Amino acid sequence: MPGPGYAFFGTEEWENVKGAMSDWEATRTAYDKVPEIPVVRRFERGALDHFGANHCVAVSSGTAALVTALAALDIGPGDEVIVPGYTFLASIGAIIYSGATPIIAEIDESFTLNPADVESRITERTKAIMPVHMLGAPSDMDALTAIAQRHGLLILEDVAQACGASFHGRHLGTIGDAGAFSLNTFKVITCREGGFLLTNSPRTYQRAYSFHDQGWFPLEGQRNTDRGSGDLIFGLNFRLADLAAGVALAQLSKLDRVLATTRAAKRTLAEQISTHPRFTRRVLHDPDGECGTILAYIFNERADAQAVAKALGTKTMDDSGKHHYANMAQLQALGRGERVCPFRKPEPVSDRYNPGALPQTDDILQRSIALSVGVTDSYLGAGFGISVSSTPEQITHIAAQFRRAVASL
Ligand SMILES: *Cc1c(COP(=O)(O)O)cnc(C)c1O
Repeated sequence: MPGPGYAFFGTEEWENVKGAMSDWEATRTAYDKVPEIPVVRRFERGALDHFGANHCVAVSSGTAALVTALAALDIGPGDEVIVPGYTFLASIGAIIYSGATPIIAEIDESFTLNPADVESRITERTKAIMPVHMLGAPSDMDALTAIAQRHGLLILEDVAQACGASFHGRHLGTIGDAGAFSLNTFKVITCREGGFLLTNSPRTYQRAYSFHDQGWFPLEGQRNTDRGSGDLIFGLNFRLADLAAGVALAQLSKLDRVLATTRAAKRTLAEQISTHPRFTRRVLHDPDGECGTILAYIFNERADAQAVAKALGTKTMDDSGKHHYANMAQLQALGRGERVCPFRKPEPVSDRYNPGALPQTDDILQRSIALSVGVTDSYLGAGFGISVSSTPEQITHIAAQFRRAVASL
């Protein structure tokens, strides 16, 4: 089971898809005045209510949400964006396509940006910080917000892995200047392929809307117009399909239930694994606000983490697909000055993306193991663990397996 929302599929998803089909069918003769797509707008309004933001734009993927947000925030050539070296490749790819330069920074034992390291990488070109709320848990938004304010920087939150999580009572994705969410199969809730972005700024919203839909201006409740007010920009088409929006709308209504179930499963698993002198739990900046999708342990010794991972048939977190900067072939090629993006000139040759460039990140990930709770994804290094559908007996069995592997070190 990829993400926990999957386990909650039911009649609501079917009904919304049927509703979207009916709306579609009803307008089949209205060729020249195709109306707003009601289910997409309903999803956007639902997201605003749920997350308490002023504006939402539904888009076709989390990657589309990131690119749209970068365009909306006017980030482009000549700008630098600071992003963690532990994230999914898409965070960095979106920066590349914006024309800006990604500056990778260290994570700490929360698996999110190390604020002190972020501050040390700020130059006169730095335009934004992109905190990635990895594995369902918030970055240190107090420290990052203070840094951004001190240096006049924007914050774009990558909330793809943490939909519904919060930081001391504030929903992730509403703390920075914009927040980008994914609804793909491996995320907290899903419509197979989709995403959305949130912002409280009317100007960012207008630019995001225009960018995701061919430069149209948003007009609440009416057909879009090209006579709106705001910035005239070329857009592309990153619209969310209505059938997917129907599924997303149903999933959104279940988000609190999905999270409650995931958090309860994580609590049970963590209690049974308990503590041990050889490892510590991942640092959580807000234990009550995280999604609970992944339970991660950091061992004191790399060899211990490797032995336990081997015994469980999983991997240490440095070996997790395109989530660790050193595993991103495109990023290495960028550093070699290769043309990794057809839309821009290659970057000057640089060793800033070389394996070993982020020693703290490498060290932490090499000593860490991620157990699945709500998100089972061996590519993310979380191929071992439980799911939200696991029975109490299954959870006990998995906890015992982990404890046995540690005991035999
Ligand atoms: C999944 C993910 C994305 C991209 O989302 P898609 O919907 O797959 O495009 C971006 N950032 C992070 C951190 C992700 O995990």
